[in-house]
Amino acid sequence: MPADSPVAPEDRTDGELQPQEPESAVETARQQLQRAAGYLDIDPNVVERLKHPTTVQEVTVPIERDDGTVEVFTGYRAQHDSVRGPYKGGLRYQPEVTRDECVGLSMWMTWKCAVMDLPFGGAKGGIAVDPKALSESERERLTRRFAEELRHIIGPTRDIPAPDMGTDPQTMAWLMDAYSMQQGETVPGVVTGKPPVVGGSEGREAAPGRSVAIITREVIDYYARDLAETTVAVQGYGSVGANAARLLDDWGATVVAVSDVNGAIYDPDGLDPRSIPSHDEEPEGVGRQDAPETLTNDELLELDVDVLVPAAIGNVLTEANAPDVAADIIIEGANGPITTAADEIFAERSIPVIPDILANAGGVTVSYFEWLQDINRRAWSLERVNDELETEMLAAWRDVRDAYEARDVTWRDATYIVALARVAEAHDARGLWP
Ligand code: NAD
Repeated sequence: MPADSPVAPEDRTDGELQPQEPESAVETARQQLQRAAGYLDIDPNVVERLKHPTTVQEVTVPIERDDGTVEVFTGYRAQHDSVRGPYKGGLRYQPEVTRDECVGLSMWMTWKCAVMDLPFGGAKGGIAVDPKALSESERERLTRRFAEELRHIIGPTRDIPAPDMGTDPQTMAWLMDAYSMQQGETVPGVVTGKPPVVGGSEGREAAPGRSVAIITREVIDYYARDLAETTVAVQGYGSVGANAARLLDDWGATVVAVSDVNGAIYDPDGLDPRSIPSHDEEPEGVGRQDAPETLTNDELLELDVDVLVPAAIGNVLTEANAPDVAADIIIEGANGPITTAADEIFAERSIPVIPDILANAGGVTVSYFEWLQDINRRAWSLERVNDELETEMLAAWRDVRDAYEARDVTWRDATYIVALARVAEAHDARGLWP
């Protein structure tokens, strides 16, 4: 079996490619693109095109506050690449949202959709706003105005937004309603992640955690281990972390530690993930559970477990703590939990790291199912959603595993190779217009 190796393409002479901390999302995304391209025989002009988004819309979103004053926010929608189908990606409401962040995240969506072989390209957007500082009716007015500003570039065959940080199914329902009102017809396929009553899919909420669990199970099997003998630590007990922990526990693994923003609970004999409330069920409820030991989040990341699942936020594993990580395998539940420098340390230490764009891709995959259901006006059962998700995850896993075995690269590189090869092949077939 090939070991993870720190192999890097020898094209890192370009100054732009030297890792620099802190790295912006777009810098990281460009480095990853260049790195994957180094393994493939693809047209450099296609790589050059993929370093840039097709377009970025910057819009002004004024709303009337509840006190009658008017406040003006800035929103963005970066559309990276649509060679394989309509743009797809989340909308986040967060004070830190910038143009560059949206561009970087839109590039990741291109690869995530491609590795899953979904007929979508990548997009990302959002508004620089603290949603907690707005009332519900202010958030609704903000979303409806944003929908109006984006109306000309989104649509079920053009660009399909979804929830992300600071947005939720209700946000998507408002967006869908605003778009539909302007179009003069109900268009559920314009967004995914809606409530099921207006065309959302069963199983969408649990899907990213479910895919993390499926990939963990396959990786354990790949390394000839037994899930029943596997200990797991999960950082972040939200939608991704709790759903992954509960499924892995159902399938026989021993979840020994979980955490939320305040800290972790630890039981070397195993916790009961179903009795621990997720972030949605009881925010910050992890610390209120009975457990033999409590730990800090940093201590959880350094536990001697078989599998570590960082499923909270980005950049938690850095060059400072990567040398002390004692887990045998890392599965990225969150988006971007590992910095480039830490990634290199894990490669040197031969710790397999399964990247976010594969492990948590269950979310966008069930979004694709939702879009299919909307277009066909036919709802699927939860059982069908989960069965089809399992099929798609296993297909993507096999493609990545084949690339990994064929090339002696890291799992992250193998995943990017699969994705980039698909996108580049589509560009090659379509050519450059006009
Ligand atoms: P969530 O809000 O449901 O839960 C986040 C959890 O992380 C909570 O338990 C919270 O207390 C904890 N947390 C927050 N800050 C922390 C910190 N500094 N240290 C430790 N724990 C912290 O979020 P989620 O939807 O589960 O998303 C988690 C990650 O997965 C994010 O990176 C998100 O982008 C990514 N992701 C989410 C989805 C999705 O559809 N939910 C899909 C793909 C990727």
